[in-house]
Amino acid sequence: KSKAVKKGSALFFNSQIDEQVKRDFAIETELRTAIARSEISLVYQPQIDVQTGQIVGVEALCRWHNATLGHVPPDEFISVAENSGTIGDLGAFVFYQAMRDIRLLNCTIGSPISLSINISPKQLLEPNFVNEVTAAADELLFDPQMITLEITENVLISDLSVVQPVLTALRDHGFKLSLDDFGTGYSSLSYLSNLPMNEIKIDRSFIDKFLTNSHSESMVKTIIAIGEFCELKVVAEGVENQEQYDRLAAFHCDLIQGYYLSKPLPYDELVAKYYSLSLDIQSIG
Ligand code: C2E
Ligand code: MG
Ligand code: MG
Ligand code: MG
Repeated sequence: KSKAVKKGSALFFNSQIDEQVKRDFAIETELRTAIARSEISLVYQPQIDVQTGQIVGVEALCRWHNATLGHVPPDEFISVAENSGTIGDLGAFVFYQAMRDIRLLNCTIGSPISLSINISPKQLLEPNFVNEVTAAADELLFDPQMITLEITENVLISDLSVVQPVLTALRDHGFKLSLDDFGTGYSSLSYLSNLPMNEIKIDRSFIDKFLTNSHSESMVKTIIAIGEFCELKVVAEGVENQEQYDRLAAFHCDLIQGYYLSKPLPYDELVAKYYSLSLDIQSIG
């Protein structure tokens, strides 16, 4: 990179940082009271079993709409929550609400579906986390076997020795565990085989390109092979079209998630979609 930074661009750069700092501060401030003001809601994205074509689960994703900030995406506010100590409350709100919703759905449909919940590494490392999530499942009569906790692959790099016993405790309580955004971190095969995982999710960035980019295609195939070898379910996320779906089915990927089947939906729309997708999906693949 050139060191000859013009005065103007340095100023511009500073004011950009300034804007970002201001925005993060506003997000942090507003986030503290967002739950109390009912600004946080959940949407659910169906996961389809490629073999049977059935909806077998949903992933809960949180949404935030604030009067002054507008819609703030989770990629932006989750990290602020992690760094300002509000992730615990936010996370607890998410798993309670998600369990309540999907428990209700499961009471009205034939075969119950599983619920995937994203867990921040910071949350996982809170001493009370295992108790809280277990208590929530108990209270809401949600079988932990039907709950998958998703953690991102990079959590393993820094804190493996701290994380490992927490993951083991969660598995002992019956929860399933998934490695999210798989392929983007640095975990080795031996790492993976030492962890009590049930599932890996192929990161969207590979799914985006794997039809036309041979490196991405190798990644997808390799991750599916790793899943087979380690006896883990493999989920492809971000599947947006039929060609991707068909190819992943041919590669024997287990589960598919993405806009092709459904965007993440508010609870009421999920219920409606559940019935229509259950019928439509028979004709796919
Ligand atoms: P993630 O867990 O990897 O979730 C997948 C993201 O991909 C979601 O973005 C989803 O809306 C999006 N997506 C799904 N299918 C498609 C598709 O076909 N095409 C495209 N372009 N995108 C698709 P979202 O909802 O914005 O969430 C982003 C990230 O924020 C999540 O990534 C997760 O890491 C985090 N997150 C969301 N909700 C929560 C939460 O309740 N707790 C925690 N700790 N993190 C959350
Ligand atoms: Mg996820
Ligand atoms: Mg992901
Ligand atoms: Mg992600």
